[in-house]
Amino acid sequence: MADCDVAIVGAGAAGLFAAARIARAGRSVILIEHAPKLAEKIRISGGGRCNFTNLYTTPENFLGANPHFCRSALAGFTPQDFIALLQTRGIAWHEKHKGQLFCDDSAQDIIGMLCSDCDETGVELWHPCKLTAVERRGACFVLASERGDLHADNLVVATGGLSIPKIGASDFGMRVARQFGHRIIEPRPALVPLTFSAAHWQRFVELAGVSLEVEAGCTVPAGERAVRFVEDLLFTHRGLSGPAILQASSYWRHGSALSIDLVPGVDIVEALLEAKRGARHQLGKELASHLPARLAASWLAQAQLDATQPIAQMRDSDLRALGASLKGWQVEPDGSEGWRKAEVMAGGVDTRQLNSRSLQSELVPGLFFIGEVVDVTGWLGGYNFQWAWASAAACARALAH
Ligand SMILES: Cc1cc2nc3c(=O)[nH]c(=O)nc-3n(C[C@H](O)[C@H](O)[C@H](O)COP(=O)(O)OP(=O)(O)OC[C@H]3O[C@@H](n4cnc5c(N)ncnc54)[C@H](O)[C@@H]3O)c2cc1C
Repeated sequence: MADCDVAIVGAGAAGLFAAARIARAGRSVILIEHAPKLAEKIRISGGGRCNFTNLYTTPENFLGANPHFCRSALAGFTPQDFIALLQTRGIAWHEKHKGQLFCDDSAQDIIGMLCSDCDETGVELWHPCKLTAVERRGACFVLASERGDLHADNLVVATGGLSIPKIGASDFGMRVARQFGHRIIEPRPALVPLTFSAAHWQRFVELAGVSLEVEAGCTVPAGERAVRFVEDLLFTHRGLSGPAILQASSYWRHGSALSIDLVPGVDIVEALLEAKRGARHQLGKELASHLPARLAASWLAQAQLDATQPIAQMRDSDLRALGASLKGWQVEPDGSEGWRKAEVMAGGVDTRQLNSRSLQSELVPGLFFIGEVVDVTGWLGGYNFQWAWASAAACARALAH
């Protein structure tokens, strides 16, 4: 039987990052990964360039049943700390949009850095290796694996979320959590395109491919924070996608509606009334100066308004109603594209039974949960990797003594 101070399950962002930091402190670490390739989510992230952090990370960029939980770990390891690491390796990066940092070259640079840190610090990698059971014997954890049993004083679960099952996602982490008495916040796909029933979406199918900047949010139960995002929206054959919708999807629950302003920052009612006073435009042409032409045409047809009618002949009340419909489009998705397309999992191991400084279980000493398996979900834009690094660093600090 193999022995180690710390067994880490899952060699993704959080697991690799934690492993090297713990091993550097002189503790023996075995890192176990079941998928054929390590860190696949890093490889496919950010279109192959990994949006590895966000300069403006704050706890407000995360959701979870216990919103303050992430504060301590995020404060203990900041985006600047990760940037400093990249600088020591000469990994070049750039800011793309709203504080989102990407590798100049490839996500492989980050994977290379994490793997070489594990190598240099003597982390023992069991890969590929399937685990069949975990149990607690006395003060130890015993992990049964294809390579035989492993004895560990501490167990760190870094198995990530359920999205993209074909590259290694599993519910192992949540099963272990349950086995040791932890509560689970029901997992759901997040940062995911939303879909509509075919009957409802029929009238929008012709708009597939149209994209525009909107302000989107989701109706949320009383007491929850309502967040709105100004980003692009994309019409698809089955529903809505684009960053604005992905962001709102993390807050969406069955039965709740999206509320979308299709002309953010524009007082559209005033603009239409002004156009009526001044211009000889047709209504369709005027609307197409505020919206993509295909959307403008479809919107008017659905409102049974004649696009060729001179705007000067329109009733004020019709223009007001048209403007209001564009400012407050309410649509109720009936589902999402699911785990196959979701970027992350919302929900997971309930943080109310974890220590926020160390990510250690408050029920079982020596058991830790880090990264996406925990009920801390970041917005789109590098926040999820920042959580993976920060939660791993917090756990590593606790295990370094
Ligand atoms: C397409 C896509 C693009 C993304 N782009 C970004 C981005 O640009 N920026 C950003 O911040 N976030 C992005 N994310 C989210 C980000 O990848 C994750 O939040 C992050 O990887 C979570 O880190 P983790 O270590 O917790 O989990 P992961 O990185 O998923 O690692 C978990 C590891 O555990 C392994 N594992 C699972 N079960 C077992 C088991 N039973 N035994 C052994 N090993 C197991 C998995 O194979 C995997 O290697 C993206 C996600 C996707 C799907």
